[in-house]
Amino acid sequence: MASMVVLHSGTTGRGAVDDTALDRRRRHDMLRQQVLARGVRNPHVIRAMARIPRHLFLEPAQRSQAYSDQALPVAEQQTISQPLIVAVMTEALEVQAGHRILEVGTGTGYQTAILALLAGRVYTLERFAALSREAQSRLHALGLDNVEYRIADGTLGWPEQSPFERIIVTAGAPEVPEPLWNQLAEGGRLVIPLGDRHSQTLKKIARRNGRRWEVDVLPCRFVPLVGLHGW
Ligand code: SAH
Repeated sequence: MASMVVLHSGTTGRGAVDDTALDRRRRHDMLRQQVLARGVRNPHVIRAMARIPRHLFLEPAQRSQAYSDQALPVAEQQTISQPLIVAVMTEALEVQAGHRILEVGTGTGYQTAILALLAGRVYTLERFAALSREAQSRLHALGLDNVEYRIADGTLGWPEQSPFERIIVTAGAPEVPEPLWNQLAEGGRLVIPLGDRHSQTLKKIARRNGRRWEVDVLPCRFVPLVGLHGW
């Protein structure tokens, strides 16, 4: 397990992080009431979410809402996912220390930060430059160095770094983009919301002997995956 953030002291190696005792209490309540109570029990996922200050991924005016049970609007008409959804997706991905993960849809970088604590290296793609840059500065401030960022159409994946043991898509797609399937390692897993532009089903997909095995996880609603192999 990558472990470089010392959040409980309120600081990281790179200077002060504004994470008070009240924030930490709200975070623990969020995990107890919204995540554990609804069946996400993986201790690695819970521990990672306890360590990442979700409020720092929002504009100051919205921070009081950071630990509420909902998705919230962010810049570029995008959203930060509901905490439960982040927990469910992370658990479904079955991340192991050392995994190389491709993430499509950096957004605020909140999900990226959780993955960075659990995996070996995270390669994250975002189509909006401003979102990617802000995510980078947040993760840098938290001391999370095992992340590579690229501003690009994520439906094309990141061929030079493939194959990936895990791929996570945090925007809703009509189908699995073919480049992503081709960049998924044998024995790998892909977690992706599939459906129409307004509602989707979160799918957990495994690749075994080149074949696709698929399980429905839960109904969900994500912003659309916009791109050559998306909407
Ligand atoms: N995981 C994010 C939520 C992201 S919302 C968080 O925790 O904050 C979905 C993100 O996917 C948006 O930022 C959107 O701009 C991005 N996105 C949509 N289509 C994309 C594409 N083809 N390539 C890269 N990013 C894309």
